[in-house]
Amino acid sequence: MLKLNSHPSGRHFLQIPGPSTVPDRILRAMDYPTIDHRGPEFQALGKKVLASIRTIFKTNNPVVIYPSSGTGAWEAAMVNTLSAGDNILMYETGHFASLWKKLADKLALKAELIPGDWRHGVDAAQIEARLKADTQHIIKAVCVVHNETSTGVTSNIAAVRAAIDHAGHPALLLVDTISGLGSADYRHDEWGVDVTISGSQKGLMLPPGLGFNAISAKALEASTHSTLPKAYWGWEEILASNEKGFWPYTPATNLLYGLSEACDMLLEEGLDKVFARHERHGEAARRAVRGWGLEVLCLNQDEYSPVLTAIVMPDDGKGGRHDADAFRKVVLENFNMSLGQGLGKVSGWVFRIGHLGDFNDLTLLGSLAGIEAGLIKAGVPHRAGGVQAAIEYLAGTAGR
Ligand SMILES: *Cc1c(COP(=O)(O)O)cnc(C)c1O
Repeated sequence: MLKLNSHPSGRHFLQIPGPSTVPDRILRAMDYPTIDHRGPEFQALGKKVLASIRTIFKTNNPVVIYPSSGTGAWEAAMVNTLSAGDNILMYETGHFASLWKKLADKLALKAELIPGDWRHGVDAAQIEARLKADTQHIIKAVCVVHNETSTGVTSNIAAVRAAIDHAGHPALLLVDTISGLGSADYRHDEWGVDVTISGSQKGLMLPPGLGFNAISAKALEASTHSTLPKAYWGWEEILASNEKGFWPYTPATNLLYGLSEACDMLLEEGLDKVFARHERHGEAARRAVRGWGLEVLCLNQDEYSPVLTAIVMPDDGKGGRHDADAFRKVVLENFNMSLGQGLGKVSGWVFRIGHLGDFNDLTLLGSLAGIEAGLIKAGVPHRAGGVQAAIEYLAGTAGR
């Protein structure tokens, strides 16, 4: 029998890179009766969240909010801007980029995936070269993942924009920042992104269930002649309803209460401070990993994710690596902490620490202590002192 109410004392540490821990303030904000989604009270809420979310995406353009997971918002971005059989260019940063390509295949788009090693971000020079070779402008969109949650690598979106511009190519730029929004610096307008895709359950600190499309004027124009079938996902009706603060169907009212609170929290702290906090925790986590004598999966220090750190398990001396999932099981069963599993190609030999959202120095140190204790308990070879290295870094940079 599933025992949902068994209660080990103390809080569960949910250190997967999404869903992230939902802060009490957001839980309280959602704990209200659901209201009439066509009434005046809802209208005020709708107008507020639609305005606030733009500041989080750093855009003056519309942001559509779906009752959906991030995957739904991926699909929405494509069906609204592209037509059957369109060629698109994607980049294999990791598992999520690969899943997005599979989704494009199912929509019968002709997706070309530039291969990657899952340890680096997008190489903008390769995008530029491929677009320059496309003199007929057959490629309709470039689709990249900003924060690749499977590898802990963050790509430089401004460089991708510059690559498209240098190639003089008219392709749209579609960017997934499902795990980056609200924790890693992101600028929809400044970076000239046409559709930015995100979700609620990562940096925004909400439960799963909201998907987002931030839309440029160029993407909106493309949507008027895109022919992929769209009904539920179609921007046109939603944007028309949103004008008045409403949705054409029943929105996820209680998640919108939460979204309103989440935006307030991020803006009260200030986005720059939020991003600096995440950068600092990322650095402390990497110092712990190196202190243990283990390896960070990301190989380019300019591309370290502030959201999560993926760690390579050490050699087992038998030609393989220690089992990351057996290690995670030890940590869960003994210390009540969930760590992210290795996904896709890195499954079984990589684990991930989420250090995003509602997170502070002690949450990080608690997570790292649980990992160090787990390494001992699971018999995974490592050096002592990882937690100590993180403590020293955090103490030395406290108050910054
Ligand atoms: C979580 C995630 C997704 C998938 O989002 P769902 O809400 O699980 O559908 C896609 N891309 C990235 C980068 C993610 O982190």
